[in-house]
Amino acid sequence: MASSEEDESYVLEAKLRLDIWDEFDRKKEKIEKTRYHQATCKHCKKANVLRLEIIRSEKYYLQNHLTKCKHVPEEVKSKYAAKPEKKAEPDLRGKKQSSMFGFLDRSLTKVEKQQFEILLADTCADCNFSLQSIENESLIKLFQFLRPTVEMLSRRVLTDRILKSRIDDTVSQVTQAISHKEDVTLTFDGFKNVSQNKLLGFVAIVREENGTNSHVFESVKDISGLNYNKEYVVAEVDAVIQTMEHKYGSTFRAVTCDSDGAHIKA
Ligand SMILES: [Zn+2]
Repeated sequence: MASSEEDESYVLEAKLRLDIWDEFDRKKEKIEKTRYHQATCKHCKKANVLRLEIIRSEKYYLQNHLTKCKHVPEEVKSKYAAKPEKKAEPDLRGKKQSSMFGFLDRSLTKVEKQQFEILLADTCADCNFSLQSIENESLIKLFQFLRPTVEMLSRRVLTDRILKSRIDDTVSQVTQAISHKEDVTLTFDGFKNVSQNKLLGFVAIVREENGTNSHVFESVKDISGLNYNKEYVVAEVDAVIQTMEHKYGSTFRAVTCDSDGAHIKA
C-alpha cells in the first residue's frame, strides 16, 4: 500500500478517535482492574436517562454504544459506523479493491473476533440460550449463512473463557458503581424469568455526584420452590444489606418494594 494512503488512513483514524469524545463524558474514575476510564454518553445525559450506562473508554465499547444508543442522532451514528480494521489487514491487491474490503467475505480480524465473542456471549446470556445451543447445527448454519467463513466457538471456549470474562467485566462495573457509596436505596421484587424460575432480584439505587440516580443491578436469587414469605424476605434483605455494607463499604438509607402497604411483606 502506498505510504501516503496509509498515513491518510491513520490520520483519519486518529481524528475519529479524538472526535468520539464529543459524544462522551470522560470520568476520572477507572473501570476497576483496568487502565480504562469510565465514560458516559452525552446524548443519554441530554435525554435525561436515569441510569447512565458506565462505558469503558475503549474505542470498541464507545463505538458500540453509539451504534445501539437510541438517543444518538443518525448522522453521528453513521460517522462511527464500523470502520474496517485498516491496520489489521492491509489489502495486498491494490488500491482499487480496498473500498470493497468491508463487503467481501473473509476471515475475521483479531479485533472482529473479540467483538464477535462479546456479542455472542451477550446474546447467549440475554436470550437465555442454553450453553449447548452454541453447538447447535441450526444456529451454526444461520451464522454460516450470514458469514460463510465464520469460525464458530465451542461450548467449552464460551463457558471457560468468554462468559467468564464478560461476567468479570460486569461484576467489576457493578462493584465500581456501588462501592463506598452513602445513602444507597435498596429495592427488590420477585419475578419469573423465561424459564419460569421464580427469582428475587435486588437493585441498588446510588446517587452520583452530579445528582443523577444510577440503578445498579445487585443480585438475583432463584427462589423456585421456596416459601416466599415475610420472614424469608426480611432475612434476604438483611443479608443483602450486610453484604453491601461489609463487602462494598456502602451505607443504606432506605429499603423499598412495590408491595402495597397492606401486604405483609411490605
Ligand atoms: Zn447513549
